[in-house]
Amino acid sequence: MSQISVTFDGKQFSVEADQRPTHIFADNKEIVVCKINGVLKDLWTDLSEGDVVEGVSISSADGLAVLRHSTAHVMAQAVQEVYANTRLGIGPPIKDGFYYDFDPENTFNPDDLTKIESAMRKIIKEGQRFRRRVTTEAEALRELAHEPYKCELIGIKGPAGEEASVEVGGSELTIYDNLGRDGNPVWSDLCRGPHLPSTKHIPAFKLMRTAAAYWRGSEKNPMLQRIYGTAWPSQDELNAYLELLAEAEKRDHRRLGTELDLFSFPEEIGSGLAVFHPKGGIVRRAMEDYSRIRHEEEGYEFVYSPHITKAALFETSGHLQWYADGMYPPMILDEEYNADGTVKRAGQQYYMKPMNCPFHNLIYKSRGRSYRELPLRLFEFGTVYRYEKSGVLHGITRARGFTQDDAHIYCTKEQMVGELDSLLTFVLNLLRDYGLNDFYLELSTKNDEKFVGEDSDWEEATEALRKAATAQNLELVLDEGGAAFYGPKISVQAKDAIGRTWQMSTIQVDFQLPQRFELEFSATDGTRQRPVMIHRALFGSIERFFGVLTEHYSGAFPPWLAPVQAIGIPVADTFSDYLGDVIKQMRKAGIRAELDASDDRMQKKVRNAQMQKIPFMVIAGEEDQKAGAVSFRYRNGEQKNGIPIADAIAEIKKVVQERTQV
Ligand SMILES: [Zn+2]
Ligand SMILES: [Zn+2]
Repeated sequence: MSQISVTFDGKQFSVEADQRPTHIFADNKEIVVCKINGVLKDLWTDLSEGDVVEGVSISSADGLAVLRHSTAHVMAQAVQEVYANTRLGIGPPIKDGFYYDFDPENTFNPDDLTKIESAMRKIIKEGQRFRRRVTTEAEALRELAHEPYKCELIGIKGPAGEEASVEVGGSELTIYDNLGRDGNPVWSDLCRGPHLPSTKHIPAFKLMRTAAAYWRGSEKNPMLQRIYGTAWPSQDELNAYLELLAEAEKRDHRRLGTELDLFSFPEEIGSGLAVFHPKGGIVRRAMEDYSRIRHEEEGYEFVYSPHITKAALFETSGHLQWYADGMYPPMILDEEYNADGTVKRAGQQYYMKPMNCPFHNLIYKSRGRSYRELPLRLFEFGTVYRYEKSGVLHGITRARGFTQDDAHIYCTKEQMVGELDSLLTFVLNLLRDYGLNDFYLELSTKNDEKFVGEDSDWEEATEALRKAATAQNLELVLDEGGAAFYGPKISVQAKDAIGRTWQMSTIQVDFQLPQRFELEFSATDGTRQRPVMIHRALFGSIERFFGVLTEHYSGAFPPWLAPVQAIGIPVADTFSDYLGDVIKQMRKAGIRAELDASDDRMQKKVRNAQMQKIPFMVIAGEEDQKAGAVSFRYRNGEQKNGIPIADAIAEIKKVVQERTQV
């Protein structure tokens, strides 16, 4: 056997020409797929002279995607074993799992998932090898004549969109055969690959749920049945994931929003449009009030703008060219008719605003600006409307109408570095005040194929953002080429109490809008110059941040945000008057305090207060009344007795003022 020279994990080796990565990595069970000359490939791939091979671990992002896609593959095989007349759609990996779309004879039910799971277990135990086979379009169409959806994919090949590309996105058309114990194919699927070496490399999986899904995402196509599943490198990791899901479910802001009477989505209003109830209104107002104070301290000026505008504004800003899909359709106003019903004067198109920036630019432009006024920081709690697809709506974290805590900063080029630096510090400190403490930053840089502005401007702005980010001593992740065409940005990613990452604030430099709006200022030397524009939303939107905080705190808001900060619970009816007076004093001191004067027994009142996650239960019995004191019961069940009334008020006021959690 002849020898070839290949590079493995950085070192050069001479190996026999029939050796494949699967032999070479045989001792390392973690390696389930590899990169050959930088391209992800099956471990069974033939090697050529000079190949550079890197092992890819099952726990890496690529490894997890291959594990999950391979599991989807096994699921499809199992489905066709159990329900022979099921046609196949597509089966891509997704975040934390996978799905596969099917066209079954009958709708799947939860029992079916159990049956499919056990068929999958058998396939996994058999250790069926995934074998790649290159085919031609004509052959594939013949072989897959009974799979109409796959045949349709063969027809579109090429750039078929992210998900379909799992099947046919490669330069060659390939079919994968699963080989049984005797080495003969037991099942085949049109697929680009790569896959795990064999089905026995699937350590842990679970099928999660079914959903309806249109073929290729279009309502014009047939409705298919989608099965979602998850797969992990170990049973422990699967268990941890399922626990996280259970915890997330308990914290789900949509559930807590109802349980705590914070907000709702009345059907009469429409999808993605929330109303805030009095208790949610208190949380929201507390969030806004504090934000307002901090913005004032940082030199922001407050502006207001209307919710609708003539189309011309969004033509100037460019939104109608590149963002029209995300906007509500226009209203036609002021149309005039002749007596015969024909149009005498065409109407004006008005749009709901999806963004506030164009309005702020008009405020900037309302008069001549001098360098002395810069940096000019305009702030608005601006309510915007975006026509999000109903499939992506998610409570108040992804809605169709929401209020951004939006600011636009206009400054000179020279001011940009300092402005970005102080801005990022401000943003992070404010997020910390709301109780988020675990951050990393992401820097999105220029996409060389799609950008406006000068290279030198991009470099300067990207460097300024990088400098500001580095100064924070936080992890900085590079999103190479990920910037929007109009400028680089930093986004702040925050981890919540159960370790989930949420994208919070973004700081976006914009080279486009100042040009489109012809923004200018007169410089020290009297020349007209263009300002730098920075977009900045700190919460993203108030609604979304509210949702994130609700889940982060699991509804047990710190006292400064809690709708009710203290609830009075008399041990018996006889102490109601005494406690009622204490509560009155608390309210006078600015504390959101209430007396539970219901007919419920004390234990029931305590339970109710716990359900409402009220930070302070203020309890009074005979000893308390005699001593002119109260007892505190905290959310964790701890109790503190005999606190003089003045001290009790002081304790609550202190934690509210300091915005600490109890
Ligand atoms: Zn596949
Ligand atoms: Zn903006």
